[in-house]
Amino acid sequence: MNAPVTDLPLPRANQLTQPFWQAAHEHRLVVQRCKACGKMRFYPSGGCEHCGSMDYEWVQCSGRGRIYSWIVVHRNVDPGWQKRTPFVSAIVELADQAHVLVPGLLSEIAPDKVVANLEVEVWFEDMTPDISLPRWRPIARRA
Ligand code: ZN
Repeated sequence: MNAPVTDLPLPRANQLTQPFWQAAHEHRLVVQRCKACGKMRFYPSGGCEHCGSMDYEWVQCSGRGRIYSWIVVHRNVDPGWQKRTPFVSAIVELADQAHVLVPGLLSEIAPDKVVANLEVEVWFEDMTPDISLPRWRPIARRA
């Protein structure tokens, strides 16, 4: 009964990334935080890029950030992705700490309306009953 409900390629967790994917499954965005210097980092890695410590913990983020960079994908060699074109693949700088960059699809906005520093929030797309992926969308501005 766990047949994939998507034709898109899916991530495979390993020992290092399993906590990230487990949190995503629970619709929470987590990153590593160094226990020695307190700095967050992403992608997951065994050692701190700032101080070299191997001691870290996973912490939940605010789920907010700003568009740091992006591309608009019009053609993709993967048939599943091709069906979704055009789509925006973005890199988001987390509001929690400067220079912590988390990639993901940007949804709920026309590709030609994307601008640098656009404020976004995370949401999670359930790809299968077990796998959810972080996505980004503009923070709605309500008058
Ligand atoms: Zn550190």
